[in-house]
Amino acid sequence: MPRRDAYMKRPHGVSLDRAQENGWGSGWPHCQTSKIVEVRAGGVKVNVRRELAELVALLLNATVAMHHYRLKAHDTGGYNCRSIRNSDKPSNHSWGLAVDLNWNDNPFQKPFKSNLPVGVIPMWWNCGFYWGGWYSTKPDPMHFEYVFTPADVPRHLRKAKELIMSFRDDGDARVLMWRIEGLLAMRETIDNHATNPNEPNKLGMAVNAIAADARRAADSARAAQAAAEAAKAAVLDPAALETLLERVVRRVLAEQPPAPPA
Ligand SMILES: [Zn+2]
Repeated sequence: MPRRDAYMKRPHGVSLDRAQENGWGSGWPHCQTSKIVEVRAGGVKVNVRRELAELVALLLNATVAMHHYRLKAHDTGGYNCRSIRNSDKPSNHSWGLAVDLNWNDNPFQKPFKSNLPVGVIPMWWNCGFYWGGWYSTKPDPMHFEYVFTPADVPRHLRKAKELIMSFRDDGDARVLMWRIEGLLAMRETIDNHATNPNEPNKLGMAVNAIAADARRAADSARAAQAAAEAAKAAVLDPAALETLLERVVRRVLAEQPPAPPA
């Protein structure tokens, strides 16, 4: 578990609690529920502002895939129409501009405690999300909030794609990532498969889909295909799934894009 001083230092000159001035309209108690959408990525579901949905999905996936950080579905959330704790100021959660990741592992408390990999923080910050671990009064390391305007989102989205997708900027790799994400999302169901005999079949279907995508993809996905083969074996042993996912993700990330045809 990293010490607080191992993390990126707080950036200066950032104005917080300015969602309304930044053009996001009203927050708590007049929350704009109709502008909230559900994002499924990185094995979790969060509700956020529609404008941020793609950006949040990329960042959640990258948190899992690039930083090997397992997000817990029951410990992670976004939109919540409420005030800041112990205050009557609206929380960024009430605009759908903030997400909380693994709140039991990254609690809002003093002394600071977090198991987030240190690289996760600059990644979210480079894409516009200020980290609650930087709060000086009481750190809130589960918390990431978007502190820019709606007009800034496209630039942060480009940044996120640069950071995350540069390794393989093509549709095949994305399809694979989505499949992997689907597997991660099923992880909790799989954990309970003993009580539900249908779950192993669902896992088998997902694994077959990964294998099919890998076959369709160009030779860049050979490694992923090999991993998908191993995935079939893991159906028989759900405990091996986590290791397997890590292997698939690592190998997809590590592969260089194929050379263009001569
Ligand atoms: Zn929060």
